[in-house]
Amino acid sequence: MVILAPEQLHRDCLVFDAHCDFLSLTVWDRRRFDRRLDYGHLDLPRLLEGGVSAQTFAIFALSQRHPTADHPTVEALRQVEAFYQLAQQNSGRFAVATRAAEIEQAKVRGSVAGVLSMEGCEPLAGDIALLRVFYQLGVRCIGLTWNRRNAAADGIAEANAGGLTDFGRLVVRTAYQLGMLVDVAHLAAPGVNEVLQLAAGPVIASHANAFALCPHPRNLSDAQLEGIARSGGVICVTFVPAFISSLPEQASLERLLDHVDYIVQRIGVEHVGLGSDFDGYDGVTAGLEDVTCLPALTAGLIRRNYSTTAIRSILGLNLLRAFRQVAG
Ligand SMILES: [Zn+2]
Repeated sequence: MVILAPEQLHRDCLVFDAHCDFLSLTVWDRRRFDRRLDYGHLDLPRLLEGGVSAQTFAIFALSQRHPTADHPTVEALRQVEAFYQLAQQNSGRFAVATRAAEIEQAKVRGSVAGVLSMEGCEPLAGDIALLRVFYQLGVRCIGLTWNRRNAAADGIAEANAGGLTDFGRLVVRTAYQLGMLVDVAHLAAPGVNEVLQLAAGPVIASHANAFALCPHPRNLSDAQLEGIARSGGVICVTFVPAFISSLPEQASLERLLDHVDYIVQRIGVEHVGLGSDFDGYDGVTAGLEDVTCLPALTAGLIRRNYSTTAIRSILGLNLLRAFRQVAG
């Protein structure tokens, strides 16, 4: 057996992150992607330095986050267009991926694959035809809600939250027919249960941790972890300080690794992945200040005695398996 040094192993792994919020920033704040910035969590030079092969970019179109935002459908289309512009302007280093094979090609070439997801289905405007349109535009993962109620379901911040609406159920069924993963991050518990019953394929939580270690409403109960595992899905652990530790100022790489350990022990190493939520949160998780810190995560997994196979699974192959099963 060949034992690789931590940095070498990290470079050798296919790293696939399930969530970042860069796209809304590039539209609303004109955030640059092509040059290395000394603020924010990621840009293309830093994704390459961090050894990322595939990064999921969420369309986040809720107007309350930006004072001059238009209708969510319009905002979503602007973000889709910005995503394709990033690919056009950075060809050779960054390409759109809609299939697992395109992610594997990016790994071989040493470039970054961009996967498009949608966080909250407000852009669908209650019309299932628009889900098909966004699939055609490249969206391969959809979360029904952000924190609030919409036409599909209730988010986790709603008091006395209920489950899915008829439209929400139609979105879940149609997503798997089209080849889109459903993401339960931000969805209130009754909705998570319904998605797990309805889904015809793996369900993911694109950015969430274990409630048992940090009792934040955005984190997942043991029963939810087990349900996602039964679907063949993946819990993508997130770097948001308040989801790592009840004392967010103490959030660190080591405390994140505690979540990885817990979820692995609870449901198995084949159901854990990464969902940084880069550029989607304030505060700092010590040791994971930006995407260039990812090799330290691999070193941490080695320190905790994970096998090379297990580390490859956690860094990307688990999420790639679920992605391939649904999107092809
Ligand atoms: Zn989010």
